[in-house]
Amino acid sequence: MTQILSSIAIKKKITKELKLECRFLLENGIEPYLKVILVGSNPASLVYTASKKKFCEKIGAKCDIIALNEQIDQNTFLDIIAKINLDTNVHGCIIQLPLPKHLSHLDIGKLVNEDKDVDGFHPNNLYALFSNHEMEKHFTSCTPKGIVTLLVENNIEIANKRVAIIGRSMIVGKPLACLLTNLNATVTLCHSKTLNLREITKEVDIIISAVGIAHLIDETFISHKKNQIVVDVGMNTDTQGQLCGDVNFERVKDHVLAITPVPGGVGPMTIISLAQNLLQASKKKVSL
Ligand code: NAD
Repeated sequence: MTQILSSIAIKKKITKELKLECRFLLENGIEPYLKVILVGSNPASLVYTASKKKFCEKIGAKCDIIALNEQIDQNTFLDIIAKINLDTNVHGCIIQLPLPKHLSHLDIGKLVNEDKDVDGFHPNNLYALFSNHEMEKHFTSCTPKGIVTLLVENNIEIANKRVAIIGRSMIVGKPLACLLTNLNATVTLCHSKTLNLREITKEVDIIISAVGIAHLIDETFISHKKNQIVVDVGMNTDTQGQLCGDVNFERVKDHVLAITPVPGGVGPMTIISLAQNLLQASKKKVSL
């Protein structure tokens, strides 16, 4: 039987742990506080930011969504972030992507201070990941961190495994390749210009797709040996307007050992990682 790598039970378990950690911080006079900067009204961004706020509040942390007008000028936008960087009551800040065109040239990774960068985009946080040095003192990108948690919680070995990641973005593919390499996997990072992608995916132990094309991955990408694990990061909309992944679940599920569903797979793990990073940032303020 194919194992369905659902995140529902894991989310429940980690939520309990996060609630306890949060209570401990509150008892020590620290209220974990996240600011989410949202520019405009992109429907997906509205949903994601609302989910982040809801989850923070569920564990007992504070979260404000700073909803800014789509037309906000660059200086006002930068001033708002600069003030958050200086606010000692705020422990974490994220800028919801995508930004409108007139702000998209900004070097987002450098705007939020390193110690509040709970998205893990700051160059110093990326360097820690890149060099595998003092990772515990830095923040790891949320989706890659969540994927590793999902694999570990399901007792899926990472060390010595061959992994194909499809997609080389700054928020998923590249940091994930680094993280898995640090964990001693052998990673092939594939992308839109990769030749013979199927030859690569058929050879590996774990396939991770982060492309953004609904149902791109079907059984033709999968080995006949029924020995692979498939992780679907994609959050796309199908022809009926329903949320779906990059993987054609129905066509792939009987050909693999284990597979993540969409929804209920990687998506919730990203929010869990964000909350873990927020508490990590807040803990730095407690002298234990
Ligand atoms: P992106 O658009 O920045 O990058 C997509 C990558 O896919 C690129 O590197 C590109 O080279 C590659 N690609 C495109 N077409 C390809 C093809 N035909 N074959 C192989 N590679 C191809 O995307 P992103 O921001 O990394 O997001 C990818 C997907 O993951 C989206 O569906 C997004 O919504 C989803 N996502 C989900 C979460 C989550 O929490 N579950 C978080 C982030 C992103």
